[in-house]
Amino acid sequence: MDACKTPSYTLRSIKKWQRSIRKKAIEKLGGKCAQCGFTDPRALQIDHVLGTDEKSRKRGATLCRAVLEDQNGEYQLLCANCNWIKRAENNENRGYRQLLTEFNPAIN
Ligand SMILES: [Zn+2]
Repeated sequence: MDACKTPSYTLRSIKKWQRSIRKKAIEKLGGKCAQCGFTDPRALQIDHVLGTDEKSRKRGATLCRAVLEDQNGEYQLLCANCNWIKRAENNENRGYRQLLTEFNPAIN
């Protein structure tokens, strides 16, 4: 066995696969922001409807696979704007919230 052999999965093919699985996930979720109807996939993000903490938040291809396997409607598409607003309102992103309260202590 030649351990130094070039792996059959090149970075290029992995990226291509990641793009295609993301496209499938976006298509499954309706292809537009659930809040405002924005459709440009470059700014669409897959969101866990109920929210998750940072530790268990899935990312990238793992997230896309979870979307494709999901039968319970646990995921939705949000554009970057709506996603940030949702996170701020639900306090899902403590870093962002902290930033807000530092900026304006009256928020808390
Ligand atoms: Zn939106």
